[in-house]
Amino acid sequence: MKALVAVKRVVDYNVKVRVKADGSDVDIGNVKMSMNPFDEIAVEEAVRLKEAGKVSEIVAVSLGGKKSEETLRTALAMGADRAIHVETDGKLEPLAVAKLLKSIADKEQPQLLLLGKQAIDDDANQTAQMLAALLNASQGTFACKVELVDNEVLVTREIDGGEETVALKLPAVISADLRLNEPRFVKLPNIMAAKKKPLEKFSPSDLGVDIKPLMHVVKVAEPKQRKASVKVSSVAELVEKLKNEAKVI
Ligand code: AMP
Repeated sequence: MKALVAVKRVVDYNVKVRVKADGSDVDIGNVKMSMNPFDEIAVEEAVRLKEAGKVSEIVAVSLGGKKSEETLRTALAMGADRAIHVETDGKLEPLAVAKLLKSIADKEQPQLLLLGKQAIDDDANQTAQMLAALLNASQGTFACKVELVDNEVLVTREIDGGEETVALKLPAVISADLRLNEPRFVKLPNIMAAKKKPLEKFSPSDLGVDIKPLMHVVKVAEPKQRKASVKVSSVAELVEKLKNEAKVI
């Protein structure tokens, strides 16, 4: 069974991003970039399924500028077998990403499509759902457990106040949540070996997909600064402040 995993290059989760002076976007010049953390979890899950003998080939796909190649090399070092890079410097909205991934899926015919539940830069949480709809495939979002049983995949999903397990027909699109697994630490020999693994390139036009954005960002702003807290010395003082300063009681 073939698994396709989508990996996005995003600003590293440890970086505190700054907004550009003109408020048009966040400034990503000279900041550390990494694989989207939820995509790392998706790759790890595919690799574990391969190690368990349930998946035979893992294809990692990334869409974006030239440097997305680095993200693909990380996926290859984690255990993906080959990579596909759809190279574009254009801004990609989730619908365009879903259309591009669909076109790759049409070529590759994977039975499992693993994505992150959301990209930590746009926080859209849309691509997996749109991809499943475009492919007319089943979808299991926010997965915290994935099991392949016969011709189905059992996905345990994180839902409000608990978990839900659904049985999906294949092909299925699954989006990885935080508790699905803990991604492995990539070792140097694997990084070296990943350099020799195949990486194929396409452009959006090769795939016949129009990536023209359907929206534009009006404004990006920093969150409002919170006022410094004060320490109260007694319950009476707290009640007095809540009543007369915050006016919430
Ligand atoms: P989003 O809907 O933008 O929050 O992204 C959800 C997931 O879609 C991500 O975690 C990735 O697995 C996948 N994805 C989004 N954008 C890209 C991209 N440019 N390249 C590869 N995968 C992507």
